[in-house]
Amino acid sequence: MQQTIPEVILCKYGEIVLKGANRNAFEIRLVKEIRRRLYPYGPYRVYAAQSIIFAEPLSERCDMEGAYEAAKRVFGIIGVTRAAVCEKNMEAILACAREFLPEKLAGVKTFKVEARRSDKSFPLTSPEISAQVGGVILSCVRGIRVNVREPEVTVTVEIRDSKAFLRAGQEDGAGGLPLATAGKGLLLLSGGIDSPVAGLMMAKRGMEIEALHFDSFPYTSERAKEKVMQLAEEMTAYCSRLYVHVISLTHIQEELRDKCEEDYFTLLLRIFMMRLAEKCAKGYHCGALVTGESLGQVASQTLAAIGVTDSVVNLPVFRPLIGMDKKEIVREAVKYGTFETSILPYEDCCTVFTPRHPKTQPKIEAVMAQLARLDVEGLIEEAYGTMTTECKLIYEGYTLR
Ligand code: ATP
Ligand code: MG
Repeated sequence: MQQTIPEVILCKYGEIVLKGANRNAFEIRLVKEIRRRLYPYGPYRVYAAQSIIFAEPLSERCDMEGAYEAAKRVFGIIGVTRAAVCEKNMEAILACAREFLPEKLAGVKTFKVEARRSDKSFPLTSPEISAQVGGVILSCVRGIRVNVREPEVTVTVEIRDSKAFLRAGQEDGAGGLPLATAGKGLLLLSGGIDSPVAGLMMAKRGMEIEALHFDSFPYTSERAKEKVMQLAEEMTAYCSRLYVHVISLTHIQEELRDKCEEDYFTLLLRIFMMRLAEKCAKGYHCGALVTGESLGQVASQTLAAIGVTDSVVNLPVFRPLIGMDKKEIVREAVKYGTFETSILPYEDCCTVFTPRHPKTQPKIEAVMAQLARLDVEGLIEEAYGTMTTECKLIYEGYTLR
């Protein structure tokens, strides 16, 4: 599309502004992440200045729409907008307002103008700039009125060191903190709706995520595993890179079937999952486990069952969905773009040999008595030995710079 007015993408960051001495490191991380996300949309110059990150297209070929959508998926950004850029004089600013704003304000009923001058040598004061730009808007947008208290859209004029920037409103960004600024966690990733959301919620808090999936081949199919890989790939729209480790639980499940009471299968299986996840987390320097559990959702997620599974590991277990309803989780899955894949009908290892009456109020002693029928450590070693790893990247061939 031919652009008449030069535009930039402005990304406003959220909580980083509270980070004091660490702010610089957060900012650098965020700029790198935005560079990576914008990579396929053409060359951009990305830099931070005064709590805003600018993405400036460097070529006519830049896809601004694509870059803008990608910027909205970067954690650590609370607001995104496209701004027009012009020379720092009133004539140019008003001409720019006349050309850029009518389309942005079409159908809008009320507005106000805010002007900011980081360059204090600019000859007009902020109220004077606002009044003049407001005048232009009133003259060229039909039916619009000023409302300084509750405007539908705020038009901002910023006079910065080199240029003036003009924008109308902003859209919400993905929020949270920049990726990889809050340690690393290992996500137990099933093919369901919940776990991808749980992982992305932790990524939103700045956690770097690695994933561990358990399969039970041949009881679970190759297609089921591919579905999980597809989910992992979809998650990279937000987390950029995701290592997915896969461990086979087949032998463990056969041992459980042959040697333990059926009612305990699910819980015992979860104990093995947690133990294996802990081992994997320690091997890959993850400081926490992350699961998609939600209190009371299924038998293995009652308080008593969670108490048992928590007691077998020595790492913090984050369950960001614990207080959420399925409906709320689905809404997040739709937002993150994982829902459609999650509902594809493939089996999970948890659905193999499912007990008819799983224990919902397990006693730890009874569970341990069941475990004692098995060579737990030997089975864990053996299963860990089946681990394979794949790396999913948002864009193949891109290295962080
Ligand atoms: P849904 O409830 O929508 O099916 P889910 O599969 O994520 O989603 P559960 O089966 O209730 O949920 O499992 C609870 C949690 O245990 C999951 O969120 C996930 O963190 C972990 N989990 C379950 N199955 C697996 C698996 N095959 N591999 C890795 N983690 C798993
Ligand atoms: Mg679940």
